[in-house]
Amino acid sequence: MRLLLVRPPARNTIETEVPKAVEAENTSYPPLALLALATWLRAHTTHHVSILDAQLDELDPAEITRRIQDYGADVVGITTFTVQLVDVMQTVRAARAASCTKHVVLGGPHCNDFPALASGLSGVSAVVRGEGQRPLAALLDAWEAGQEPLDIPGVITGPDQPMPEHAVLSNDLDDYPIPDRTLVDYRRYTGLLGTGGLFTTVVTSRGCPHQCTFCNTPRLKFHSASPAHICDELEACIALDIRDIYFVDDTFNVTNKRVHALCDEILRRGLQLTWTVRMRVNGVDRPLIEKMKAAGCTRIQFGVEQGTDAGLERLRKGVTIDEIERAFAMCRQLGVGTVAYFMIGTPTESTRLDVLRTIRYAIRLQPDFVMFNILTPFPGTKLFDEGVEEGVLQLEPWLAFMGDPRADFRAQVWDQHFTRDELRDLLALAYRSFYWRPRFVMGQLRQLRDPRDLLRKAKAGLRLLTDR
Ligand code: SF4
Repeated sequence: MRLLLVRPPARNTIETEVPKAVEAENTSYPPLALLALATWLRAHTTHHVSILDAQLDELDPAEITRRIQDYGADVVGITTFTVQLVDVMQTVRAARAASCTKHVVLGGPHCNDFPALASGLSGVSAVVRGEGQRPLAALLDAWEAGQEPLDIPGVITGPDQPMPEHAVLSNDLDDYPIPDRTLVDYRRYTGLLGTGGLFTTVVTSRGCPHQCTFCNTPRLKFHSASPAHICDELEACIALDIRDIYFVDDTFNVTNKRVHALCDEILRRGLQLTWTVRMRVNGVDRPLIEKMKAAGCTRIQFGVEQGTDAGLERLRKGVTIDEIERAFAMCRQLGVGTVAYFMIGTPTESTRLDVLRTIRYAIRLQPDFVMFNILTPFPGTKLFDEGVEEGVLQLEPWLAFMGDPRADFRAQVWDQHFTRDELRDLLALAYRSFYWRPRFVMGQLRQLRDPRDLLRKAKAGLRLLTDR
């Protein structure tokens, strides 16, 4: 069979209070999950598999139909994020408008969280939960043989079908082949804060043992690929001249031992690349940061979220203000760049002064960059359940949206203490307070190595300040 895996455009992403520049950052990454899926299916089945990244060029539905028709897809598989459901449904309709399409399959985070709702969407033949490699292979085999795809682990073929108890998840990440990045136009993907060279994302682990209540990362048991497997992937990137890497693991430093082992392998092989990573502040110490720097780490992104211990406790972040300050000071001393992520409009921020404390704390930490978001609790998170219990949030609008996605849907913020407009004003104030400081501007100018750096940073800064 001919399978076309489609990343839908991000034209109608639901209105949350995440700054557009941050959203745009996420949509400029390569479609790594689809690459992993396509690479495995090509290696293990005889089906023809290709990828259409409709997000990269923001294709309209008519163009998506044309591309599906040109490819002659029997089956169209679509990545599904909850915030993109409107675009997903437009893509489903575009797939159905192509005369070749016999089946449409959805997979991705929304299908993991809300499989029954996803399988009830009009035009959808089946939904895959968890890792799609083996379930998709079994689905394609069944359809090719003209059989009903019943009882395939991880597959739901309709809202009335029994739900598979578990999504299919491998515990051996080395079992999967290295994603073939040449299946898309890999030269066109960029990182907002990247070096300007060819860029890609890499995932080295799955799961997170922490319990932050606002986070919808599935609480899966932590598994990591081996340092050898990860470095094989890095070598494959270098062979394509991609030397700017963003490790997008949910939490890179679940243990320091794992990070040391990976850095040792990068150093042993002499891999010449620079990388950015997302980490927690717990466990950050001098030997770790020194080793990471030696292995090419140039910047660490820390989810700080709040500027008070009370705020951190309410979100069950599991870190303290002191630990955060130590981690940022350590990185500064050792010359590793930092990005601090903060949220405003959280349950503990009941006055303007509370939010100002978070902003002042962000400045005191002296990160190289800061990203502020307005907290938007998502269904499936502990915080959302707490909001419903406390009468602050409602589930019904979300259920209506997930059953019939509409472009005018707006995700509710935690509006117990501030209106949405007040939060937006505070968000603008937070960005201005951090980025419009002479000290910040002078610091950035001093660090410039190349005029293209100035252009890139000015562009990133402008987007953060204006695109909301
Ligand atoms: S926010 Fe980060 S550390 Fe917390 S649960 Fe989510 S992935 Fe884990």
